[in-house]
Amino acid sequence: MKLQFYNSVTSKKEEFKSLSDKEVLVYGCGPTVYNSPHIGNFRTFVFYDLLNRVLLQNGYVVKNVINITDIDDKIIDRVNNEGVGFKELTQKYERIFLDQSSTINILPSTFNPRASEHISEMIDFIKALMAKGVAYNIDGNIFFDTKEYSKYGKFVNIDDDNLSREDNELGKKHPNDFALWKAWKDSDGEITWESDWGNGRPAWHTECAVLGTQLLGDSIDIHCGGIDLKFPHHENESAQVEALLGNKFANYWLHSEHLIFDSEKMSKSLGNTLSISDLLTKYSAETLRLFLLSSHYRSKVSFSEKKLDDSSKMIDKINRFVNNVDLATIDINGVDYSRFHLDFLDALNDDLNTPEALGVFFDFINTVNKNINNDSMTDDLRIQSKIFINLFNSIFCVINTSSSDKMFIPKDIQNLASLREEMRSKFEWNEADKLRQMIDNLGWLIEDTKDGQKLIQKK
Ligand code: AMP
Ligand code: ZN
Repeated sequence: MKLQFYNSVTSKKEEFKSLSDKEVLVYGCGPTVYNSPHIGNFRTFVFYDLLNRVLLQNGYVVKNVINITDIDDKIIDRVNNEGVGFKELTQKYERIFLDQSSTINILPSTFNPRASEHISEMIDFIKALMAKGVAYNIDGNIFFDTKEYSKYGKFVNIDDDNLSREDNELGKKHPNDFALWKAWKDSDGEITWESDWGNGRPAWHTECAVLGTQLLGDSIDIHCGGIDLKFPHHENESAQVEALLGNKFANYWLHSEHLIFDSEKMSKSLGNTLSISDLLTKYSAETLRLFLLSSHYRSKVSFSEKKLDDSSKMIDKINRFVNNVDLATIDINGVDYSRFHLDFLDALNDDLNTPEALGVFFDFINTVNKNINNDSMTDDLRIQSKIFINLFNSIFCVINTSSSDKMFIPKDIQNLASLREEMRSKFEWNEADKLRQMIDNLGWLIEDTKDGQKLIQKK
């Protein structure tokens, strides 16, 4: 099956067509770093990772951004009310986010830009919007003028019932207008930057619009986030870029549904959160990851200990299967995928249908286990099992396969290595280095020998 995604703009599944043959550009809205991320945030971050891995499996090279929102009202409140340093606070929680992402086997992003390190680009961007006549100044607050941009309303029907009502107190002209820059006020303390309109700070929607276009380009393939970001955040991000540049900002907008706790969205502001570090005292990182991947990213999922216990049992079953297959002795080079593998890949290509893919994998395990129990295991089934374990783990990443045969090189790694070879032959060293880094991030080292590249799986 060809890769397809549900695009929130059209509310339909659409075949994925990348802007370039080689590289897919993906932006995911990252954490606001004023306290530790919770398991709900990680539902969204693991969804970004799933998307990344499925794109790699389809032979694409992924260039992605997950930004660090380090300028925000809640951060400013904590800094000014608790006497903690701005950088001390934000970099502490950024570190926790990055460490927990790695614990839960999320591949590193190409870029994790901090909003606070791109202020001058944000000021230039706002100036350009003002010059275009789509932004205005009220007492040092700069607003986007939605009445000057006829395409406003990509994600919702703009009528009087569908208004964002953000920053009403700052004196904006129309209800859906939104702040690009917020003028300094006493409660901001020392957190402020100079601009042509006086001191202040960029607003959130502008942070993401600028980081996306600066690091990935004017047009990107995929923009993603949790469903709460669809309106107004993504509407506003997209309106700014499209009003200024006149092109589509992102071709596909993907949104993950919420993790629910006690029938409400798990959220820092509601105070009903469970941190990853607390959960890790009771469950393995693999159990948390499997729990997050076992429902489809577009369905709501309620948190429950029972579901985590079920995931833990699934991990045990997978590990027993892996041990029974005796991976080390099996050579799978040159063997093609079977129907089971193709069904698994089809499920993932069908808008990242992880529950179905997981079902195919467990059907396969059950079939092979029957053969093992009847003493009728064949060489062919052993080979199919090893291929499936590697394939499954390249996406779900919940098994430690370090004991498996190091000679098997997954297709996505082979594709990245060939692309690197191509870049080297064209003397495009920067691109080649980036590809080496991506391969490294996926757990493989490249050695350049006189006979060409050699791939070695990291221990
Ligand atoms: P924040 O740190 O609040 O800016 O959120 C970071 C990301 O987590 C955003 O993409 C949110 O949409 C997402 N998010 C927040 N709460 C949840 C939740 N309960 N379930 C799934 N995703 C969430
Ligand atoms: Zn964003």
